[in-house]
Amino acid sequence: MDLAALLHQTFGFPAFRANQEAVCRAATEGRDVLLVMPTGAGKSLCYQLPAIARKGTALVISPLIALMDDQAAKLSALGLRVARIHSGLSRDEARQACRDYLDGSLQFLFIAPERMRVPGFPEMLAKRKPALIAIDEAHCISQWGHDFRPDYRTLGEHLPLLRPAPVIALTATATPTVQKDIVAQIRLDSPALFIHGFRRHNLAIEVVEMSKPRRNQFTIDLLKSPECRPAIVYAPSRKAAEELASQLGRGAAAYHAGLDPATRERVQRHFLSGNLEVVVATIAFGMGIDKADVRTVVHTALPGSVEAYYQEIGRAGRDGQPSRTVLLHSFVDRKIHEGFLERDYPPITELARVAALLTGDFQMPSLLRQRVKMDVETFDRTAEKLVAQGAAAFDIAGNLRVTENKNWQSGYDRQLAFRRAQIDAMARYAETPQCRMTALIRHFGDTEDGFRPCGRCDFCSPERATAQPFRSPTQQEDRQLRTILRALDGAAPRATGKLHTDLGLGIDRRQFDAYLNALTRAGLITLIADTFTNAEGKVINFKRASLTHEGRTRDEGGDLAVMLPEEADQSNPRRSKQRKQSKHPRGLSSRPKRSGAERSASPPLTPTGTPPTREPKSPGAPFMTRSGMGGTSREARPASDPTVTLTQAQQALDQRLRDWRTAEAERLGLPQFFVLGTSTLRNIVLSHPRNLADLRKLEGLTLEKAERFGPGILELLNG
Ligand code: ADP
Ligand code: MG
Ligand code: ZN
Repeated sequence: MDLAALLHQTFGFPAFRANQEAVCRAATEGRDVLLVMPTGAGKSLCYQLPAIARKGTALVISPLIALMDDQAAKLSALGLRVARIHSGLSRDEARQACRDYLDGSLQFLFIAPERMRVPGFPEMLAKRKPALIAIDEAHCISQWGHDFRPDYRTLGEHLPLLRPAPVIALTATATPTVQKDIVAQIRLDSPALFIHGFRRHNLAIEVVEMSKPRRNQFTIDLLKSPECRPAIVYAPSRKAAEELASQLGRGAAAYHAGLDPATRERVQRHFLSGNLEVVVATIAFGMGIDKADVRTVVHTALPGSVEAYYQEIGRAGRDGQPSRTVLLHSFVDRKIHEGFLERDYPPITELARVAALLTGDFQMPSLLRQRVKMDVETFDRTAEKLVAQGAAAFDIAGNLRVTENKNWQSGYDRQLAFRRAQIDAMARYAETPQCRMTALIRHFGDTEDGFRPCGRCDFCSPERATAQPFRSPTQQEDRQLRTILRALDGAAPRATGKLHTDLGLGIDRRQFDAYLNALTRAGLITLIADTFTNAEGKVINFKRASLTHEGRTRDEGGDLAVMLPEEADQSNPRRSKQRKQSKHPRGLSSRPKRSGAERSASPPLTPTGTPPTREPKSPGAPFMTRSGMGGTSREARPASDPTVTLTQAQQALDQRLRDWRTAEAERLGLPQFFVLGTSTLRNIVLSHPRNLADLRKLEGLTLEKAERFGPGILELLNG
């Protein structure tokens, strides 16, 4: 079967995208498939093309009407025969779709998952077996997933009836745990696994700690520059979304589940057409939105999971153009999530009270609710959790009856623990100094990725960050930083809390941590996660610091090239004045905003009154536990691994580049760090680029810098 020819004839695409062909081949041959690729990668084609190749009808199960309509419209436009069955259509339309399906005149039938629960419906489908079954957004099946849909859970029971068709499950957001759950729930038969493509090369990710009251103004300032739009802002609540949208004014609108469908549809349409440039949404927005030129995604609060976060930032820059994502968070965000958790997960005793009333016959929810004396909301949540645990079942009218699962209590505990771990992982992601992109790729278990640092995020390239300005240390700070380095010299890795007390630098723990993070960013130290068990048997997490090769071999008198975050504090008049004076609004192409002279004239950082320590963190969350924290991305980078020994020629080149960097920095009045980061310098030495094209490919060197410094560097290398 010539799939490439079929691709061209049917879809008009000249070629497969990365990984599509292998997936299509497996599905066409009749294998079950689990496909995990990020949003926008082109997953739909991976079931559509095999469906056409296998002839017959493909059954597509999709969780959202908007998604179904969008896909169906696209396929119809290609001249394919498509029908849908969902609650937005009339009874007649649904009947006609069933007739067409049974006639064999359809190539695609889209159905909502709850349809499978309608008595007789799966049996009707089974009268004419589909050629392929696709389950889109398959993470909804998993109770570990963030958009868990109870209706998806029972799908696995009905699929055997429709076999031997291959089943292909597609999703953008499955961690290894969720992947396993999907395979088990849908009962995939030794599936071919394709888990690919989480690295996004055009996203500059920023993660910034910022107090809540400042976040709206920051967002407004950021989105003022036209190159930052179109933009999606994710807000933590409907109220917050409404408020920010009205502050942003014309060209912006709120989008959330509390709006009527017509308004939502209008917002979505105007955003797609470009009439609206900013949508401030709660998480409900974005699924099925196919807008390629979103330049910025802002989160004004900590998302509830890394999966949700990744999915949301993934909506930026689908056209491949440089795009920016900014996450604003602080310690209180985590507390808020814990509050949500309590609200969304009623106590197990409440679940038990409802469960005790259920019988084998369906009962009306209103009657049950009266008997347990619960308000509507609590009752609905409780019922939903029981169904999710397989302890109860709904019929299509929402009536409840008991089902056989007797072990639902342990399942419920596990689910709650899992949600906690997701919040922990998200908070840890936000708080750990590391290449943001690499951290995400590790999280998703894309083991074929080389874990190279991205060169674009605020860790790899802090001088380009928009939300968190960096500055050179003052003389006093420079002395303190050097004291830390000396204390680590020749020592075994030291626990950071103890180091803080031992050194007695007169700064609080929070500021001390900021110093350690800055030293990590500069490649001078590494932070490794460690744990110990205290007298009460509780596992305490902490970090140890040690010097890197770079830190050990640096020359004592030289510039440290360390940048400290400018304290984000609205009460500091210096900063807000500066912001207004700034000629260029903070934007995508923002450059260092102040000259070197201004920088060194900065007054010293004022220690903040925020809580001094955030340790210990709760143990057990899956994020970044495998190989330490902080320094890992640098350690994993083969080209700049500081422990790689250089040849003599390379050492000479290294020295020439350093001299050039010093001269260039002096000429421009900028810190050396702004000219070239130490790890980029190392990358240049090791890869010895021949021309500008090679230089542009170098990790860690931004395009801007390649243009600006490229000719000088090449002269030095080849001259
Ligand atoms: P996903 O489901 O992975 O988020 P989609 O299947 O919706 O992504 O595809 C995203 C876009 O990419 C769609 O507009 C689709 O038409 C386009 N696309 C998919 N495969 C190709 C291809 N081989 N060549 C060009 N465009 C493609
Ligand atoms: Mg899709
Ligand atoms: Zn990075």
